[in-house]
Amino acid sequence: MRALVIVDVQNDFCPGGALGTERGNIVAEQIALLQHDPDNRYDAIIATQDWHIDPGKHFSDNPDYIDSWPVHCVVGTGGAGFHPAIDEDKLDQIFRKGEYTAAYSGFEGHAATDDSITMAQWLHGRGIADLDVTGIATDYCVRATVLDALKEGFSVRVLTDLCSPVHPDTEAQALSDMKNAGAEIV
Ligand SMILES: [Zn+2]
Repeated sequence: MRALVIVDVQNDFCPGGALGTERGNIVAEQIALLQHDPDNRYDAIIATQDWHIDPGKHFSDNPDYIDSWPVHCVVGTGGAGFHPAIDEDKLDQIFRKGEYTAAYSGFEGHAATDDSITMAQWLHGRGIADLDVTGIATDYCVRATVLDALKEGFSVRVLTDLCSPVHPDTEAQALSDMKNAGAEIV
């Protein structure tokens, strides 16, 4: 059983957003094509959302773009919403993270419909062992989600064409880290 995991394809991480990444729109549109492909063969399609209320030092007026960032993905703002290409009706579940803390990995989140269910519990409960991971940003939330998925025992493929990085240097390091941890980079 295989799931497609769409990490943080939100307006603030796409061009024009508070932390827009260059390839955000392209990635959103290509992921949407997969969502609508009748031959996609995924047993589940899920998405994560960076979902901030007051995440402390994760936000800064003078961000270092490593551990602190401009204000982004605040609950109730358009920036926290999915890119318009993403079809929410074709998501089996959404996992939200980071209300009161920095949270890079989707595995730190909880189901939008039930706070008590983690992403690992949800996937294991459906017999899903294999994940295809896509989204934004390759070098931060995709990387953290993939490393946690491997720790949770999932077999992971990273679909690099469907991922958008913050910066090419940290992207290269992240791809190397994910590969060394056991992910297949495709
Ligand atoms: Zn954040």
